[in-house]
Amino acid sequence: TQLIKPRIREILSHELPPELVNTLPKHWVQIGEVLILPLRPELEAYKHRIAEVYARVIGAKTVLRKGRIGGEFRETNYEVLYGSDTVTVHVENGIKYKLDVAKIMFSPANVKERVRMAEVAKPGELVVDMFAGVGHLSLPMAVHKGARVIAIEKSPYTFSFLVENIELNGVWDRMTAYNMDNRDFPGENIADRVLMGYVVTTHEFIPKALSIAKDEAVIHYHNTVPERLMPKEPFETFQRIAKEHGYETEKLNELIIKRYAPGVWHVVVDVRVYKR
Ligand code: SAM
Repeated sequence: TQLIKPRIREILSHELPPELVNTLPKHWVQIGEVLILPLRPELEAYKHRIAEVYARVIGAKTVLRKGRIGGEFRETNYEVLYGSDTVTVHVENGIKYKLDVAKIMFSPANVKERVRMAEVAKPGELVVDMFAGVGHLSLPMAVHKGARVIAIEKSPYTFSFLVENIELNGVWDRMTAYNMDNRDFPGENIADRVLMGYVVTTHEFIPKALSIAKDEAVIHYHNTVPERLMPKEPFETFQRIAKEHGYETEKLNELIIKRYAPGVWHVVVDVRVYKR
């Protein structure tokens, strides 16, 4: 990989105006056989050729231009610059994640959290993943720890990959997927552990998480928090809502996952809840 950047520069230096060579991307994300490339606007006219060279030198089948992630389903909307097949299998920590990289978010910054979830899970416990995606956080728990998982995903397209990933990783005997809004999930008082891997509006789902949780359970509560409210938030809001619903809380752990926007952080708090 040391030789990749000089090789790309070398090839493109014959084709681009000299002042643009320094603006070529120095970092990219590789998910399976798909590259996500951040490209500056001044490279617009050359984007397809640049993408082709990165694909050939790095060895990828498709190149996407990095864009925004948004909406209820946390969808990406990445422009295809080279190739056409945006579905790939990404292998990480012994887990196979099949997904459409052009449409479904898979953040390299969340890798630590995906690995950590495999570490905290316990054999046989029941985990409810309220925002399952393609199984980002809960596949590692089922595969590496033999946890039983109920994975809920609202987007039909993302759900189709979740189902495939359960098969691909051979955990159909302990992982069940539901294609629904988690607020409509009927299970109550069943989970030893609840995953709330969502951002921006996660607090709205705290009452539902509490109703899914057993009288004593651990909830992994993610949210995005403006820096000026840290470190009190996001725990204070969780604690207040839990109290209103008759639960005591104990903060076990708190981690910053990544910068979400200028001055805003994506944080996860592990909370033990007890029904009073
Ligand atoms: N939890 C994983 C992680 O942290 O890496 C994946 C998170 S992904 C950003 C969140 C997923 O939650 C998306 O696939 C989205 O479609 C799904 N989602 C959003 N609202 C939902 C709801 N009310 N019920 C079920 N799934 C929902």
